[in-house]
Amino acid sequence: MRLQGKVALITGAGRGIGRAIALLFAQEGAKVAINYSKSEKEALSLAEEIRRLGGVAMTVKADVSKADEVKNMVQRVVQEYGKIDILVNNAGIVIPKPFLETTEEIWDRTIDINLKGTYLCSKEVAPLMLGQGRGKIINIASVSGLAQKSALGNVPYAASKAGVIGLTRSLAVNLGPHVNVNAICPGVIETDMTASLPAEYTRMRVEETPLKRTGKPEEVAMAALFLASEDSDFITGEVITVAGGRGMR
Ligand code: NAP
Repeated sequence: MRLQGKVALITGAGRGIGRAIALLFAQEGAKVAINYSKSEKEALSLAEEIRRLGGVAMTVKADVSKADEVKNMVQRVVQEYGKIDILVNNAGIVIPKPFLETTEEIWDRTIDINLKGTYLCSKEVAPLMLGQGRGKIINIASVSGLAQKSALGNVPYAASKAGVIGLTRSLAVNLGPHVNVNAICPGVIETDMTASLPAEYTRMRVEETPLKRTGKPEEVAMAALFLASEDSDFITGEVITVAGGRGMR
């Protein structure tokens, strides 16, 4: 019960990595707010599962790229639980295309959700954390934002995730000494996101991975738990790669 008494808001938590994080945090004693934008059914079913297991959960709809929706989301969580101790900026999209086939619309949508969404949620939650004198922000970036090969065919995505890493470091400086801000860079993790990519793309990436396999959402959730818990109290502005060695620096 490493998160007993804590309140965690996880964006994009109806599916994939966000879902695994919400479930693990709830099992570790946190009250969790499950954000979704489209996957209402999945979010409601996760909340039910958490309650069945004896945990506490609520669902909250918001498109993280819209400032007014983010504001309402944070207000709803605070009305329900009174505070937010942990924010996981997990919501993200990828629209893979060769660079010359990308459009301004793809660029804007990717940056708006992956990078601006992380900025908007952090900006809305940070004053609460500063007021409490304590808080943890965990940003889900990607090895695409770090490693040269991973960025192939993913230009707006790689740029958005490199931006998330820069934002993480800048927020760590600006929100210290009370708020820890860290990032996780997952490699290829088995979710809807990777299922939507060509099989050849995944095969190539596994080939580049020293541990020669894809990862599970639960393996990313374990790193998020470490960054959310007191075990990481002296760590800020860091990037933890959960990628089987792919993209190591
Ligand atoms: P996923 O299964 O496709 O899930 C994406 C999540 O993001 C969904 O819950 C979705 O919720 C949410 N989302 C998308 N747009 C949103 C918006 N505008 N507002 C709120 N939520 C939104 O993907 P995943 O693999 O779990 O990815 C989670 C995070 O990990 C992303 O940031 C992704 O870039 C990152 N990542 C994943 C991998 C991987 O291999 N899977 C690798 C590196 C990094 P709705 O369905 O409700 O819209």
